[in-house]
Formats: sequence, structure tokens, C-alpha cells
Amino acid sequence: MTLTTEDLQRLFAGIAEDIAAERDHLCELDGAIGDGDHGLAMDAGCQAAAKAVGAIDAGVAPTTAFNVAAKAFLNAVGASSGPLYATAFMRAGAAAKDKQVLSDDDFLRVFAAMAQGIQERGKAEPGEKTMVDAWKPAADAALDAWQSGKPLPQCFEAGERAARAGCEATSNMTAAKGRASRLGDRVIGHIDPGAASAVIIVAAIAKFAQRQWLSHHTS
Ligand code: ADP
Ligand code: MG
Repeated sequence: MTLTTEDLQRLFAGIAEDIAAERDHLCELDGAIGDGDHGLAMDAGCQAAAKAVGAIDAGVAPTTAFNVAAKAFLNAVGASSGPLYATAFMRAGAAAKDKQVLSDDDFLRVFAAMAQGIQERGKAEPGEKTMVDAWKPAADAALDAWQSGKPLPQCFEAGERAARAGCEATSNMTAAKGRASRLGDRVIGHIDPGAASAVIIVAAIAKFAQRQWLSHHTS
């Protein structure tokens, strides 16, 4: 399949829609082990990113679209998720290398670069009860599937499954990063809100990849 800035406009709109639908739930999760604003932060960031990307000329390169998304997300969000996702989108832009059209391989690399950017910006390792516990296994699983020759939709399906499992696993963890790290054992039994929103985003990307791939392979 191929991917242009016009496709990314649909992707960002889809992510914003799915995050908006879970806004209150994400706030509840953050209310249990943080300050209760995660749904508001992610909703504001994703809406701003979708709006900004939607407003650019569809003829510009995907790299520009990701950079515009990064800036919009950062400006809209005061919480720690702001710089984490802004870095993810900046890295996505760099991975897209100013190409006008992205291939399957490019899109997989963009996805992996987002996960790596989040990990490097927040300096969190897996097991520290953060969004990295969803993003890192998702990227690893998607890349593994790609390297073993699976078609793109199956790679993102594997990524989504891994993100869900990683998010579930945060329930039994204590937190080593972010606000929840001040609460010690009291966070056990609660999943990490950032991991939960990461699952929504990974799932939105998987859904988008599936549709995109089908539209290129059924004609
Ligand atoms: P804040 O904690 O500033 O209110 P949010 O509520 O938007 O920010 O986001 C909280 C989420 O951010 C956490 O659930 C966690 O997943 C993620 N997070 C916090 N610190 C880090 C970090 N250093 N690295 C990766 N993710 C982090
Ligand atoms: Mg919060």
C-alpha cells in the first residue's frame, strides 16, 4: 500500500475520534493513580493535532504533517503526555524522510520510531508502569511480524495485541516514572492511563492500516 499526507489527515482524525470516545474513561484511570487529567490532555492534544494536520495542503510531504501534529499536540497539552507524543510525532516525521509517499516498510518504521521517541523522551524502561509498556511491545511485535513476512494489517494486528497485553500487565506493576511513582504499592491493581491511551492509538493505527491496505489490494 502507499500513504500520503491526505491519508494521514484521515489517520489523525480517526485517532482523535477514538480518543474522544474514551476521554472520560482515561480521566477515571488517571484519577485512580494520578491527577485525573489524562483523558482531557489526550483529547485536547489529539483534537489539536487532527485539526492542524487537517488544515495543511494535502500536497505537502508526510514529514511536514507529522511535524505539524507534534507542534499542535505540544501546544495543546500541559501534562507530561504533551512532550512524549510531540516527540513521537517528530520522530515519525524524521522516519518519513521527506518522502512524498510512504510504503508499507516506511509506515512500519514510522510506527517504531514513535515508540522509540516516547521511550527516549521519558527515559522509561518497560516494567515502569508507563505508556512505554504498551508502545514498546507493540512496535517490537509489529516489526517482528513484518520481518517474518506478514502483510501490513497482520503486523499492526500483532502490534495491537501486544499493546493490549502490555497495558494489562501494568496493573501488577509499581510505577517508577511520573506522578504514580509517588504512590508506591497503592497503584497496584490499577492499569496505567498512559498505557491505556496508547492502546487506543495503536488500535486506531491498526484499523487505519487495515482499511488502507484493503483499499489498495481489492480493485
Ligand atoms: P501528568 O502525569 O502530567 O498529569 P498525563 O496524565 O497526561 O500527565 O499522563 C500520564 C501518563 O504519562 C502516565 O500514565 C504514563 O503512562 C505517562 N508517563 C509519565 N511519565 C512518563 C515517562 N517518564 N515516560 C513515559 N511515560 C510517562
Ligand atoms: Mg495526569
